[in-house]
Amino acid sequence: MGNGLDKKIQPIYDSVIARNPAEREFHQAVKEVLESLGPVLKKHPEFAEHKIIERICEPERQIIFRIPWTTDKGEDMINRGFRVQFNSALGPYKGGLRFHPTVYLGIIKFLGFEQIFKNALTGMPIGGAKGGSDFDPKGRSEAEVMRFCQSLMTELHRHIGEHTDVPAGDIGVGGREIGYMYGQYKRLSNRWEAGVLTGKGLAWGGSLVRTEATGYGAAFFVDEMLKVRGDSFDGKVCTVSGSGNVAIYTIEKIHQLGGKCIACSDSGGVILHEKGLDLDLIKQLKEVERRRIKDYTDYHKDAVYKEGGNIWDIPCQVAMPSATENELHGRHAKTLVKHGCIAVGEGANMPTTPKGAEVFLNAKIAYGPGKAANAGGVATSALEMQQNAMRDAWSFEDTEVKLHRIMKNIHKLCYETAEEYGSPGNYVVGANIAGFIKVARAMLAHGVI
Ligand code: NDP
Repeated sequence: MGNGLDKKIQPIYDSVIARNPAEREFHQAVKEVLESLGPVLKKHPEFAEHKIIERICEPERQIIFRIPWTTDKGEDMINRGFRVQFNSALGPYKGGLRFHPTVYLGIIKFLGFEQIFKNALTGMPIGGAKGGSDFDPKGRSEAEVMRFCQSLMTELHRHIGEHTDVPAGDIGVGGREIGYMYGQYKRLSNRWEAGVLTGKGLAWGGSLVRTEATGYGAAFFVDEMLKVRGDSFDGKVCTVSGSGNVAIYTIEKIHQLGGKCIACSDSGGVILHEKGLDLDLIKQLKEVERRRIKDYTDYHKDAVYKEGGNIWDIPCQVAMPSATENELHGRHAKTLVKHGCIAVGEGANMPTTPKGAEVFLNAKIAYGPGKAANAGGVATSALEMQQNAMRDAWSFEDTEVKLHRIMKNIHKLCYETAEEYGSPGNYVVGANIAGFIKVARAMLAHGVI
């Protein structure tokens, strides 16, 4: 990270840019991984000989499709749908669907690329993919969301399956949307194939802990990073950006581990509650009533809402970006370090810009990149697939124990790989190399495909 590209790798990166123009986020995600791989090629010349890096940067399949649907008022609407099936060396394609107006091919490809390595780190048999649409669910009625999900699945169903490609949720896609998509898949396929989607409702094949998994996992990962440094969450002041699925359960686990979370946010602004956030209220506002985070101050007069404020200006010891990509810039990272922040764990995908990451690494604070720290979500999706295959349902406690063990293993793997490759304490290098090597070995074994 920050050391530039190895001279053998630079032309590969140049070619990625030339072949995928105007996909800024994809370029950024590829560069971040490729910057770590110089020492790997020295140890494993066979990866260069068989063009593993070139192949891994090229999706196996990219599907772009039209999603027509009709509003409650009878207006016909057209959105664009994407599914990028990036790499199936380790198992069926696996990765979420995102509904957000900013979605375009470059976002889906960055997420799909990250997903390959993240999924490899979990140790579960899953390949990497991502999908979604530029549909904006905000302000849409229940019936509109349902019709949109059904229309999306009318095309997507022919490309997915429990042994082929298993989508899940992401920004804008939660249990409700997965339900509508599953219903339409079942209708079109005439099959009860629970393993085709994860994040399902508990009554129809979902797994306990899946809702909590990404946030809990991210907090477990930070807990491990702190332990290595002889520290813990106990008494730490924390901030968590976002107020969606990942943010809510990150806050919950931080509180369970003894930390105090004082701020969260959404795209409109920041809530600061020095006493510690009232998570029951946040869940009620966001999960039940689907309201905005600014309404928090209606119930807690001692909390402050800063419209358009930036959460990273608030002093904290642990920061957990859990909203979206590139939300934490170099200047925010400098402010956090100046205020005494000792650990950053990414619940979101690529929330820190390259400049921001450089600041954290130079300051030698504990910095857990998303592809390692937020892998608990997809790992628990893989546990959901296991339960579906066994037609079984595990208890909350048993499933959480498994998640905890997986996060400890991911931490250990990243930590030890970073040491082995001469970058002790650098989880970016550790995660990129450990994830890449697993996928590269499988790709070599499968031949030139
Ligand atoms: P949700 O839709 O539940 O919540 C997203 C939150 O982030 C909302 O508070 C939203 O605010 C905020 N947000 C989204 N886009 C922006 C933006 N452009 N600027 C500012 N704030 C924004 O999504 P999740 O919690 O599921 O996902 C959050 C992050 O975690 C994403 O990066 C996702 O890829 C990643 N992730 C999610 C996993 C999961 O299991 N769900 C697994 C691994 C990673 P607002 O409502 O105002 O838009």
